[in-house]
Amino acid sequence: MSPLFRVALDTPLRRLFDYTTPVAGGAAPQVGARVRVPFGRRTLVGIVLGTAEESAVPAERLKPILEILDPRPVLSPDVVELLAWASQYYQHPIGEVAMAALPRALRLGAAAARRSESWQATAEGREAAAVGEPRRAPRQQALLARIAQLGPCPAEVLDRDGEWRTAARALRARGWVEQRELDVAEAVAVSAAPNDPAPQLLAGQADAVERISASLGRYDAFVLQGITGSGKTEVYLHVIERVLRAGRRALVLVPEIGLTPQLVQRFHARLGVPPAVLHSGLTDAERLQAWRAAWQGTAAIVLGTRSAVFAPVPDLGLIVVDEEHDASFKQHEGGWHYSARDLAVLRAHHAGVPVVLGSATPSLETLHNAGTARYTHLRLTERAGAATPPQLKLIDLRSHAVRTGISTPAVLAISKHLAAGDQVLVYLNRRGYAPTLLCTACGWIAPCRECDARMTVHLAHQRLRCHHCGADSPLPAACPQCGYPVRPVGAGTERIEQTLQELFPQAPIARLDRDVVRRRDDMEEIMRRVAGGEARILVGTQMVTKGHDFPNVTLVVVLNADQGLFSSDFRASERLAQTIVQVAGRAGRGSRPGEVLIQTEFPDHPLLRQLLAEGYDGFAQVALEERAQAHWPPFSRLAALRDSARTPQAALLFLREARALAGEAADVRLLGPVPAAMARRAGRHHAQLLIESPDRTRLQAFLTEWLPQVEALKSARAVRWSLDVDPQELF
Ligand SMILES: [Zn+2]
Ligand SMILES: [Zn+2]
Repeated sequence: MSPLFRVALDTPLRRLFDYTTPVAGGAAPQVGARVRVPFGRRTLVGIVLGTAEESAVPAERLKPILEILDPRPVLSPDVVELLAWASQYYQHPIGEVAMAALPRALRLGAAAARRSESWQATAEGREAAAVGEPRRAPRQQALLARIAQLGPCPAEVLDRDGEWRTAARALRARGWVEQRELDVAEAVAVSAAPNDPAPQLLAGQADAVERISASLGRYDAFVLQGITGSGKTEVYLHVIERVLRAGRRALVLVPEIGLTPQLVQRFHARLGVPPAVLHSGLTDAERLQAWRAAWQGTAAIVLGTRSAVFAPVPDLGLIVVDEEHDASFKQHEGGWHYSARDLAVLRAHHAGVPVVLGSATPSLETLHNAGTARYTHLRLTERAGAATPPQLKLIDLRSHAVRTGISTPAVLAISKHLAAGDQVLVYLNRRGYAPTLLCTACGWIAPCRECDARMTVHLAHQRLRCHHCGADSPLPAACPQCGYPVRPVGAGTERIEQTLQELFPQAPIARLDRDVVRRRDDMEEIMRRVAGGEARILVGTQMVTKGHDFPNVTLVVVLNADQGLFSSDFRASERLAQTIVQVAGRAGRGSRPGEVLIQTEFPDHPLLRQLLAEGYDGFAQVALEERAQAHWPPFSRLAALRDSARTPQAALLFLREARALAGEAADVRLLGPVPAAMARRAGRHHAQLLIESPDRTRLQAFLTEWLPQVEALKSARAVRWSLDVDPQELF
């Protein structure tokens, strides 16, 4: 019997579909290639993920593949293996998982091979060129002469001579030239020639480069823990140079916000080849173009955010995950909750190449893996240049005067650093003008109608906005309940900027948050003002902590460290510690030492004490001990079944029934269901059921058995639900 092909289709069904060999031609598709197949009354594009000898479907009902779209697979064997694993592990339908690995254009059937546009002269055109025609149109004359001389001439070559298309169209109208599309089907060899000279490495960097390079050609996982400013990127670049010299390629994943034009430029300049860049802000056409550059191998490295973990990288030699602790590596869209960081480790394993997880503040999971020798722990403890690590100090908000969020000691420190000609960074993880609008008479607080949340005041735009559902309304001049005046309470970045402007009228201020950064260019502009010294004070949210160098910032003020100290989410303290260390790392990166002031109402909180006394490592050690005692990850495995419904009852009912189905499963503990801390969001009620197990295998066995039953529940149809394996955020 001829083999059957197991095809992934973009459906929510948790299975592959069997098809027989195509009728026409009889050629067999390769695993990883796209095919067009009949599905019900429709025709769908699918991906062959395997072959089989027999099928559960009776032979007479099996249909043949209609068309093979890819002579060369679009998914390499390591990616096929990764997707199958991911579908199983994250309990998400294989078809949706496989399709998510491809750009939209390819899912719709676009050609994988880049077609190169080229132009050539017709027989008449060559005769005309020989006699110097068309004499009255010198541009056409020159172009025809060139095309006739070169033979089939790629458009990129013609582009070098300036605008030529008007002339080409005129020549085509005369029937003297024609346009052809040539396939570039095979992966090209790596041809990288390093451009910028590599700087001299510090001892720690050189050691890390040697240790990682010694593993090239086989799987090994490294944690590269380098304090901010210690030059992790330089370590990546050195190892990547060796990878390229060996004729292989590298995949580098960075957090969404860390992927700046400067970073791309730095990789390009050093490696001598432009990276294929993949991120969520690309248009479909741009994404296809970048994907093709990766697939063809014209790009020697692929540099991208989360979903680039599935990018094609022929002759993969190394994977790097920079800022591995960053929350943006966890995907939540489309109901598929995967960790690109974890999948990167898996992919490296399947491909037999080393993986480097870099961070100044590695996640506790990663540190635990290093502690148990699953990962090799490399440390960079020196800062490049003469930079010394900054000094951290707490400011007790209870014992100092505070003006809209800024304490007197902080004001004095800012004024001192400005007077010395330095720059200051003020961090507050809250955008807008004020988080609350309060009536001065009756106590009314502007609520969001759709959420259990308050509306944030955006004074410049005279709006009230909900940061959870996007609700937006005009800022009322008076209390809608009693008519007395209203007052913004508390401070966000917009208000802090205003306050600082009043306090330091001579110091130009730049602000960095999602309200002022709408497009990538906005960020560039703000960075330029800060880097060039035009702005003396930078006020910003989380955005300021990611991957930017501000060498002249000598003072960092953390306005409110208290969000996260008393959260019900066991990861909140880890995130707070990471944020403080990351934002503190922005200070003193040049030759002068930095100062970091952290405002808090809880100066005796053990987390802050630990962080100040022993740094991130000391904090991590204590935090891991707490996790072990409480049986939280990484000392157990979690999954969260979440749902939302129009009523709180419906949201809880589905989860209660799901819990009942589990019975008394011996290997797992079910916690909940409970309504989310902010139960109502965008008019829907959210709830959660946690599943905890001592290890991954037992959790997987339970989920595989349980989930199909959950899916079949009648109450499942009344809610929107999803399963999140290894959830990063808990309600
Ligand atoms: Zn009122
Ligand atoms: Zn809302």
